[in-house]
This record gives sequence, C-alpha cells and structure tokens, in this order.
Amino acid sequence: MAMLTRKEYVEAQAKAAEMIRKAGIAITEEEAQNIEVVDFGLGHLAVEGAQILTFFSTARVSVKVIALFPYQTEPEHWHPSIGDDPGKEETIRVVWGTVRFYLPGEPTASSDAIPPGKESFYTVRHEVLLHPCQQLTIEPATKHWFKAGPEGAVMYSFSTCARDVMDRFSDPAVVRTPQIIEG
Ligand code: ZN
Repeated sequence: MAMLTRKEYVEAQAKAAEMIRKAGIAITEEEAQNIEVVDFGLGHLAVEGAQILTFFSTARVSVKVIALFPYQTEPEHWHPSIGDDPGKEETIRVVWGTVRFYLPGEPTASSDAIPPGKESFYTVRHEVLLHPCQQLTIEPATKHWFKAGPEGAVMYSFSTCARDVMDRFSDPAVVRTPQIIEG
C-alpha cells in the first residue's frame, strides 16, 4: 500500500492551511496542524486526495472545511446507513475556487474529469459546477465524488454525524485512514 511521507504530509498541511486562510476562514495554528491529509492509500495525493479540517464532530453534527489542490479529486464514495442512522447527510458550500460535483443522473462529466485508468471506480457522472457561495446537499447513501478546478477549492462540509471510517468507496484500493511513513 502506498503511503505518504511525513514531509509530504506536513507540506500538504501547510499548503491547505494557506488556502483556507486565503479563503477568509480564520484558523488557529493548532487547527492548521490538525488538518488531515488523506491520500486514500492510493499514493498520488495530487491526483486523488483531500485535506480536511474538522472544526467539531459530535454524535449528531459535524462541521469541516475541505481544501482541494488544483484538479485534486476526492474518490467516489457514499455514506452508508449504520444501524438506525440512515447515513450521513452532507451539505457542501464552496467558499473559494470552483468544484465540480458528480452525482447520479444523466452523465455530463467530460472525459478528462476521471483520473486516468480509474473509469470503473467513478460510476456517477452527472456534473454540477459550484462556485463560491453555491452549495448542494448530498442525501444519505448517495454515491458522489468531486474535483477541484484549476485554482483548487476550499469548501465547508456541514453534516449529520460523520463516521469517516465507515465511508464506502467504489475503488477497492482505497484506505481511508492515512498511513504515514515516519522519517
Ligand atoms: Zn461524502
């Protein structure tokens, strides 16, 4: 399994913190150091990955900010039902940059949207382009993926209880918990 080095992790954190601040979202230095750099175990962070800062996550509500580097793609996934919980409902609101969201529906994604060689793991292809101050709500258990535009993107994620480790991904190679090589 591919892993991030500590150096790659820290550099990505710093870059994401800078983007978040440039977007006008004030964060502390401690929060900047808590930004989670996720390469989904796929070993090419710049292509498939995300930088995620959790402001809070309680048993009922979660608020995060997600920074994506230029054209970085969060792989297709869905938030399954768990017990009595129908699954995470999530509203994404773009603050800075642009993001293309992909959801079930008429396929309108351009052919270069999907990371090369990953066509079979990106199955929902209805594209919705979001600019700053635009938002959309992803219903529970609905497959989705998203990709930043040329400048990257910063967005809020407001959701019901987040259990990130329970998220399901179309690509069986995904490992949600970051693995870091020390040194
Ligand atoms: Zn999601």
